[in-house]
Amino acid sequence: MIDIKDKSNCCGCAACVQRCPKQCISMVEDNEGFLYPKVDTQVCVDCGMCEKVCPVINQSEERKPLGAFAAVNPNEQIRRESSSGGIFTMLANKTIAKGGVVFGVKFNKDWMPEFGYAETMEDIAPFRGSKYVQAIVGNAYKKAEEFLKAGRDVLFSGTSCQIAGLKKFLRKDYENLLTVDIICHGVPSPKVWNMYLEETCSKLMKTRTDGKNSVVSAKGGEYKSCIEAVSFRSKINGWKKFSFLLKLNFSTFDGKNTDVFLENVQKNIYLRAFLSDMILRPSCYSCPAKSGKSGSDLTLADYWGIYTLVPELDDDKGVSAITVNSKRGESLLKNLGIILHEAPLEDLIHKNPAFAKPTKRPENRDEFFKDDGNGVYDKVRLLCKVPFKKKCKRIIKNIVFGMFSAKTLGKIKKSITR
Ligand SMILES: Cc1cc2nc3c(=O)[nH]c(=O)nc-3n(C[C@H](O)[C@H](O)[C@H](O)COP(=O)(O)OP(=O)(O)OC[C@H]3O[C@@H](n4cnc5c(N)ncnc54)[C@H](O)[C@@H]3O)c2cc1C
Ligand code: SF4
Ligand code: SF4
Ligand code: SF4
Repeated sequence: MIDIKDKSNCCGCAACVQRCPKQCISMVEDNEGFLYPKVDTQVCVDCGMCEKVCPVINQSEERKPLGAFAAVNPNEQIRRESSSGGIFTMLANKTIAKGGVVFGVKFNKDWMPEFGYAETMEDIAPFRGSKYVQAIVGNAYKKAEEFLKAGRDVLFSGTSCQIAGLKKFLRKDYENLLTVDIICHGVPSPKVWNMYLEETCSKLMKTRTDGKNSVVSAKGGEYKSCIEAVSFRSKINGWKKFSFLLKLNFSTFDGKNTDVFLENVQKNIYLRAFLSDMILRPSCYSCPAKSGKSGSDLTLADYWGIYTLVPELDDDKGVSAITVNSKRGESLLKNLGIILHEAPLEDLIHKNPAFAKPTKRPENRDEFFKDDGNGVYDKVRLLCKVPFKKKCKRIIKNIVFGMFSAKTLGKIKKSITR
């Protein structure tokens, strides 16, 4: 039976929970806000099924992709709403058009990401955009299995470990299943996200109402109830310097107020915590599913540094990096009818190391989760400092970017590497 002694040995996919014949495993939140399986030993019959489907215990071999590409969705509106080049929506639309079902991650009513499925083009929209919080898998694998058994086409998207979990859960290959993993360097704690939201909404509404009007719609201090939209990757100021966006809608005794809070990636407290790698799930520092181990058909990521490979794609609106990992993936991708720019795999990995390498665990990570009475803002200011070397690199990069256009930079780099 599953018994998690070392937390880095569980990625939280819930495959064990969904496969247990006695339904005696539940996911329980730990002090950091991550979910782990807990077995009711009174009911367990020691069948070993939970261990058989665990993607961390049963890790697959690494696989080399069949090909790598850079591409963008020609629909500008969809690309703007997506985190990278908007390829996910194209794959999803293709599946829906064939009468299939698409699984992805959307926000629930409490602004927590969780898995859901869509059978219409409109229902795909909430899946768009990266949500930088670990998503609740719930019974998504079970539901996908039902659709597969009924003969429906299924496109299942998720992080690499979630795809690995699905594959182990299903225990057989279905011809009508296509899996897409999104590259991730780690998933942040839902608890930290929740704390950040509460602190931010409360700060915003207190300052914006100037202390004169009390907020009427935030019942019982539940400021989160006033949120209308969240984006971790708003492209309002460009793809490279993405921003965090929060839209609030609340009423005061004076009337209705709408407020848009926008902060760039270097300034925003939550994005700083995420990118400092301090608030990630312990399993992410020894990821069990990178380098093709997830078993996915296609892998999607950002194509950072595209200017050296395809300068004409460098319009700061987002470019997708895609690896094709199976014939099934290749066939779907080639049927999208978009221009695929072939890319050397080494280039992709060099520019986006999260493809192959797990994130390094910061030495002071556990300090972040200490119950010291500090809120997220204080914790980030105290613990998530950008190292001096990284700061210098960023300044130099900004100066160089300021001096040359992306196109010229691409030409310079090409001539140097030739
Ligand atoms: C936690 C996290 C970390 C990431 N880290 C990296 C990284 O290190 N390098 C990099 O290149 N890209 C990273 N990404 C972004 C990822 O590359 C893009 O989501 C991907 O390229 C797809 O972009 P798109 O433009 O095609 O479509 P989009 O519309 O942006 O894609 C949305 C897809 O992401 C899924 N999704 C959204 N949030 C979650 C979530 N919390 N858990 C699981 N699936 C989710 C949706 O279901 C959908 O399939 C990360 C994304 C997440 C969620
Ligand atoms: S051993 Fe079998 S019954 Fe016990 S928790 Fe695992 S799957 Fe459930
Ligand atoms: S990795 Fe998934 S299957 Fe394995 S113990 Fe954790 S939740 Fe269960
Ligand atoms: S880094 Fe690995 S373990 Fe962590 S969420 Fe991403 S795929 Fe899963």
